[in-house]
Amino acid sequence: MCHYFFFKKMNIGEIIKKAGLKATPQRKAVYEIMTKLGHGSIDEIIARLRQQSPEITVSTVYRILDSFYRTKLISKMNHQNGKMYYDITPVNHHHIFMNNEVIDYIDPELTELIKKHLNGDLFKDSNIEKISVQIIINNKK
Ligand SMILES: [Zn+2]
Repeated sequence: MCHYFFFKKMNIGEIIKKAGLKATPQRKAVYEIMTKLGHGSIDEIIARLRQQSPEITVSTVYRILDSFYRTKLISKMNHQNGKMYYDITPVNHHHIFMNNEVIDYIDPELTELIKKHLNGDLFKDSNIEKISVQIIINNKK
């Protein structure tokens, strides 16, 4: 189920190949940046990439990220700031927003609890595909 943790032990080329994609230098560069960012908007990803490969085009980056998304190497999330972010964690998970940081929160028990609650009432005959909770923590000093 959590093949993500298994992936962490493999090198980037192997990870991309295992997803059924060709491990091109550009794909490797994009994946590597995603492992460093964790969660990144297209602007952040491009800005990072340009530092090492100034010639890479925006459409190429979009195409690569889309191929990663289609092969479930990455997922997408809606950030608190309203932008769509690419997410290096492909498995279903929740997010904690704290001090301008996005932290993955994997809690199958919470997911199951919400699913049970919804299936027991409003969405009795529905097949709930995904539950993603955003937890916003404000630490006042
Ligand atoms: Zn995430």
